[in-house]
Amino acid sequence: MIEMIDVKKTYPNGVIAINGLNVKIKPGEFVYVVGPSGAGKSTFIKMMYREEKPTSGNILVNGVSLPSIRNSKVPLFRRNIGMVFQDFKLLQTFTVYENVAFAMEVIEKEPEEIKKRVMEVLDLVGIKHKARMLPSELSGGEQQRVAIARSIVNDPKVVIADEPTGNLDPETSWEIMNIFEEINNRGTTLVMATHNRDIVNNIKRRVIAIESGKIVRDEHRGDYGYEI
Ligand code: ADP
Ligand code: ADP
Repeated sequence: MIEMIDVKKTYPNGVIAINGLNVKIKPGEFVYVVGPSGAGKSTFIKMMYREEKPTSGNILVNGVSLPSIRNSKVPLFRRNIGMVFQDFKLLQTFTVYENVAFAMEVIEKEPEEIKKRVMEVLDLVGIKHKARMLPSELSGGEQQRVAIARSIVNDPKVVIADEPTGNLDPETSWEIMNIFEEINNRGTTLVMATHNRDIVNNIKRRVIAIESGKIVRDEHRGDYGYEI
């Protein structure tokens, strides 16, 4: 469960990015976050994984009140969150396998468990055959598969994705969406900021539209609703 209560976020330069926002996202939901550039979508999402703190208000994720946790406790909190970004953020000197295994090594899982689980998730996202390759040897879509494998390897309750198809061509974007749908079908909550109108209008899910730091629309099976 993700809940925001009267959340405001003003950046140090005075920009008000989120301006009084309330929302509840239930376990297992699939939510698109849409809106024009500069609307506050990234800030909204970053606050969910404690990359940014609200200036006021409260945020609860999996029962944890985020504004009150110490910085030193953030990595512990993030064990239950998977993160996927537009630019993949893979470690370039690590192989596919190592990028995914690393997420389990930092939480000190047993080597046998790591080996089994990493191959399992690489299989799930369809990239097992490239386990020994480096990110630079992969296409964008393949790199995003690896990033998704890394995000789910520790079986998080929530996956948060910021424009995950933003750097991918339409066909690859659909393949990536199939993987996200599969992950959500297995019970993982998914929150995804996107500008991809075709995807939002074809894979119908909850749509939260943000403009000027506020939710202006929240629909059960919504449309993208913008021209671009
Ligand atoms: P979106 O993801 O919808 O494009 P953002 O959340 O990135 O919107 O940005 C919302 C507003 O906050 C914009 O005016 C943006 O310029 C500003 N902003 C975002 N990040 C920062 C930052 N680190 N410092 C100052 N202003 C920021
Ligand atoms: P099995 O093949 O044992 O029936 P599944 O096909 O359901 O299991 O899942 C294959 C693997 O994917 C399992 O090991 C499981 O841990 C993992 N998995 C299942 N659901 C998720 C999820 N929501 N996120 C990440 N990994 C998952």
